[in-house]
Amino acid sequence: MQKEDCIFCKLANGEIPTTLVYETDKVAAFNDANPKMPIHVLVVPKDHYASLSDDIPAELLGALMKAVPEVAKATGIYESGYRVVINTGDDANQTVKHVHVHVIGGAQMQ
Ligand code: AMP
Ligand code: ZN
Repeated sequence: MQKEDCIFCKLANGEIPTTLVYETDKVAAFNDANPKMPIHVLVVPKDHYASLSDDIPAELLGALMKAVPEVAKATGIYESGYRVVINTGDDANQTVKHVHVHVIGGAQMQ
């Protein structure tokens, strides 16, 4: 189910045109608008969940995580390595309230 006025709902479901790095029936991945690394992709469910704490069904969590190495392959960082981050809630500075998995890579990290 989508949520009104949620930008990631609109991006994941094609209501706002964007280039998808990877897509299945349940999840979509697109480039972060403000990349912190050479590769910075966000993987999101097509249905709206506010955060990792939003009682996401296990099957959908699995679909999100299964998408991560596919995104890494599609962006050329599968072999070199990547970092996966899910900011959750205020102390973690979650700014967009639609759960998203950051997939970051393309250069050596600390
Ligand atoms: P977080 O701090 O984990 O909530 O991260 C939100 C991320 O979404 C940030 O890295 C933003 O650069 C990114 N972002 C915000 N709006 C958009 C957008 N319209 N398209 C792509 N990425 C976005
Ligand atoms: Zn949403």
